[in-house]
Amino acid sequence: MSAGGVNNQAALLGKLENVVHERRHSKVLESPLAVPRRGVMLHYDDSSRDDWAVEWFFDKRCKNGYTWLVLDDGRVIELADPTKRTPHAGACRTPNANSAFYGIAAATNGLVPATAAQLDSIVALCAALQLPTIVGHDSEAIWAPANTRRAELWGRGGRKVDPTGVREDGVPIIDIGVIRARVAATSRSVG
Ligand SMILES: [Zn+2]
Repeated sequence: MSAGGVNNQAALLGKLENVVHERRHSKVLESPLAVPRRGVMLHYDDSSRDDWAVEWFFDKRCKNGYTWLVLDDGRVIELADPTKRTPHAGACRTPNANSAFYGIAAATNGLVPATAAQLDSIVALCAALQLPTIVGHDSEAIWAPANTRRAELWGRGGRKVDPTGVREDGVPIIDIGVIRARVAATSRSVG
């Protein structure tokens, strides 16, 4: 694995060829990267149905931009040019998080765990990207003046609950530790 991951556009598309099922680039804001990619940030999109989930990203009111949306059946929909940054992270502990991390969202919500097929596709995407860092939105997102007037919260966590979710039984919607371990195992087996 190269430390910088896949920076070359052609190489990136080649790596993704076997894991992206459909490219439907939406109208989300795309901008040049402010810093190089260094990892992947996992989310869920808070949708309750896959067909609505995909539609939403084509709605003018949608302000969120993941690069990939992973449906219940494991289909990976590319919503944005992976070489561009999109607004998926907001204020985070890592500066320029929209650029530093690719945004991958499972189409689900805070109560319904990601399906086995969704997890398989997320692992495949992360493995293809060959980047060292996999984080959840909840562990990175911090409060900022843009989100709250309560100055005592600025810079502190707790702004997001995805992708761990809010189940009373504590079962995570996406378990970041499991994803990291599976991606590491895949990378080892590929060599
Ligand atoms: Zn999120």
